[in-house]
Parts: sequence; C-alpha cells; structure tokens
Amino acid sequence: MNHDDLQTLFAPLHRASRATPAADAQTRRAWLETLARLVRENVEQIVQAIDADFGGRSHDETRMLEVLPALRGIRHAQRHVQRWMRQVRRPVDVVFQPASAWLRYEPLGVIGIIAPWNYPLLLSIGPLTDALAAGNRAMLKPSELTPRFSELLAQLVARYFTRDLLTVATGGVDTARVFSSLPFDHLLFTGSTAVGREVMRAAADHLTPVTLELGGKSPAFVAADYPLAKAADAIAFGKFLNAGQTCIAPDYVLVPRAKLDDFAAAVLDAARRRYPTVAGNADYSAVITPRHRQRLASALDQARAAGARVQALDAGGATEKIAPTLVLDPPQDSLLMREEIFGPVLPLIGYDHLDEAIAFAAARERPLALYCFSGERAVQRRVLDGVTSGGVTLNGTLLHIAQDNLPFGGIGPSGMGAYHGQEGFKRFSHARAVFKVGPINVFQRMGPPWTGLARRMFGWLAR
Ligand code: NAD
Repeated sequence: MNHDDLQTLFAPLHRASRATPAADAQTRRAWLETLARLVRENVEQIVQAIDADFGGRSHDETRMLEVLPALRGIRHAQRHVQRWMRQVRRPVDVVFQPASAWLRYEPLGVIGIIAPWNYPLLLSIGPLTDALAAGNRAMLKPSELTPRFSELLAQLVARYFTRDLLTVATGGVDTARVFSSLPFDHLLFTGSTAVGREVMRAAADHLTPVTLELGGKSPAFVAADYPLAKAADAIAFGKFLNAGQTCIAPDYVLVPRAKLDDFAAAVLDAARRRYPTVAGNADYSAVITPRHRQRLASALDQARAAGARVQALDAGGATEKIAPTLVLDPPQDSLLMREEIFGPVLPLIGYDHLDEAIAFAAARERPLALYCFSGERAVQRRVLDGVTSGGVTLNGTLLHIAQDNLPFGGIGPSGMGAYHGQEGFKRFSHARAVFKVGPINVFQRMGPPWTGLARRMFGWLAR
C-alpha cells in the first residue's frame, strides 16, 4: 500500500474520531463483542492461516497462546470498562477552595498498531482490545512475514467493522514505514528494538506518542536451592513453545556451575518428553523463514567453533524446524550472547556465586522478562533488586504476560510503556484534568492590584 492508499484508510477514522463524542461503555462493550465474534467465529481459518505462514505452526499453540488469551483479554475489558471509565475525584488544596477537581479518561483518537509475525493474532487483537475499550478508533498493520494471516485479518475486519472504526493495512516494510509516519494520536509498535528506533523517529514528526513493545535477552536464574528437574521443565516449557520465537522466552539460563551438566540433561529430558520427535511433530513449530533458520545455524556454528558444548534433540531430518538445542557456556562475545536468540537455542551459563550471576545479567541491556527459580524469598528479592526487567515470573516462565491484572511492557531497550487490562485502557486514554471553580474564587480575588491581603497570604503560604 502506498501513501495515498494509507491516507484513504486513515481519513475516515480521523474524521470520525474528531466528529463524534466519546463512546459510552455500552458502545465500547459492543465493539469488543464484535471483536470477540470476529475471533471466535473464525478460529479454524485463523489457525490454518498462521500454520501456513509458519510452514508449520502447532494448531494447539495458536489456540492456547493466541486465541484464548485474546478472547480472555476482551472479556476482561468488557467486564471492567465501565468502572475504568469512571471519573476519578482528586482532592483540592485549601488555597483553591471551594472547588472540585477530577480526571476524565477520554479516547485519544486514532491508534496505530504495528504487529510482528511471531504471535500475529494476539499481538494485533491484544492492543486493539485496549484501544477499543478506551473508546478509540484504530488502524492495524500486521507483519509481511505472515501474509495469509494478514490478508485474512484484513478481510475479517472489513466484514465485521465499519471503516470509520477499524481498518487493516497490509504490505511490506515500505508500507510499514509510511504507516508509522501517519499522524496517529498514539502508535503502539511490537517488534524488534532496531525497528522500534525507526518507528519512534517517524512518529516524532507528528509528536505522536509511542508505546514500544520490544525484545531483548531475558535471563532465567536457577538458584542452588531449587529442584533442578522442576526448573528445567518450566524453562523447557517457556523456551520451546513456538520454537523459542516468543518475546519473553528465557534467552539464557544462569545455573550453579556444579549443576550445569545435570541441568542440561534435565532440560533435554523435559524437551524430549514434550516433543518426542521434531520432524513431522505437529506440536513443535517451525522457524518462520530460511533466513531466520540460517541466522540461528550461523550463531550455533560460531559458538561451536569457539569451543562451546552443544547438545540437542535429534532433528530427524527436519528442514523447517530446529530441534531444541542447548549451548553450554558460550563465549560472552558470541552472537548467541550478544543478540536476542528468538529460536529454540538455549545458552546455559555456570556461576559460582549468585552475586556473580546477578552482576552478569545486570551488566547487560535491560530485558523484557526475567525468571528466577528459588524457594527462598531472600534469594528472589536479591535477584529482583539486582536486575531490572519489564516483567517477572518467579518459579515458572511466561505466565506474567497472561495476567489481565498486570501491566505488560519493557524497560529501556526492551520497550517503553505498558498495556493489558486497566493499564492498557489508561495507555490509550487521555487523563484529562478538570477543575471546577466554586461559588467564590478566593485566589482570583486577591489581585491584582496586589494588596496587603495577597502579601499576607504569600507570607503564610510560602512558609
Ligand atoms: P520487526 O521489528 O522486524 O517487525 C515488526 C513489524 O514492524 C512488522 O509489522 C514490520 O512490517 C514492521 N516494520 C518493519 N520495518 C519497519 C519500519 N522501518 N518502520 C515501521 N515498521 C516497520 O520484528 P519481528 O521480526 O516481526 O518480531 C520479532 C521481534 O519482536 C523480536 O525482537 C521480539 O522480541 C519482538 N517482540 C516483542 C514483543 C513484546 O510484546 N514486547 C512481542 C513479540 C515480539
């Protein structure tokens, strides 16, 4: 789509956002219901399209990790939107009495949403849910790496929604660039840190505020006290779903050095139990494109050449899939330890003291997620205090993202701003300050011309 096409999609949304008053709770719930129906009535088509785009995406993963959280998020917003919309009274300082003050949560206008390929449904519908709950209109740009899904979504949105409420723009990187330069009232981007920078630059021209949901290297800490097999199973679960192509997948694991080999064996065991085969296993997803597979293969070759030990499940001749793979103590300057892995390859790094492991992670860019396995509160606290991240799951992986009552977002290079649930509603609302003057306005009466009263007041207030 070129600039004119995008402008044609944008114009009715913008016009409607300026011409109509904020939608009431009932209308917003109806919009959300339409969104839920769009998903619910087309699950099989959605699942098939994403499978075809991946060249093998587990149908159950799409249902459990995309469809279900998308529908639950919509339901949560439907249930609570009326309460979230309520005006919030704020106290008024005695100097300005009698008067009242409150906040009104108003729609921002038109929200732009740019989604990545790895969870194409959830990362479109999730932000959209919050944008609609906040009374906005929205325009989506799904990824060019999921062309079948993107086309399907465009058709479904055109069928279920009017063009002045929601539209989808499809196309490649050129379309994405033009899209990010449209004068949105807010732009939410989910994708890589490098592209996030470009998006923020483009948005600056219109002073469009951005929410950036980016990636990074999310560490998992295994403390000495925690049962090894339990930690290994949780980490294998979080890492190998969607073949590691999950923004909050554990990127590397810090393990007590003496337990490194046992831990590696336990992770491979857990992976084998969940995925007895790789090739032809409908439960194990493919890596999206040959380019992505090549990037992972090169990173593995480099680590191997540098002397790291590599242990993997048998791929059984799979071409589009990469078997769950562990890399023990890869060099710090290797690609695997410099870049977000985003695939089923998991470095394990031995540590002698927990403080050393904390310092290792803290010295790196702030990650999107952090995992810590320990039964001891003091250890959990040391890790939480020592390393900042967007979010955290303790003694498990991934699950903080599924909490409708927790905000989801990154910090620093892993993102800015958060959404989901009430935080998402607030993200896409303008908290408008309203001050109502009472029957007398003492402050205004004091001057000018300034008199002794004002000076006495100054003396009193500036104490
Ligand atoms: P990407 O940055 O390559 O692309 C994301 C989207 O941006 C696509 O729709 C693409 O068309 C668009 N895009 C590409 N170039 C653009 C430009 N110059 N201007 C504007 N838009 C542009 O990311 P990806 O490969 O699709 O996704 C993988 C990355 O996303 C990983 O880093 C992962 O960690 C991150 N991610 C983050 C989250 C999160 O919620 N924080 C979720 C999923 C993925």
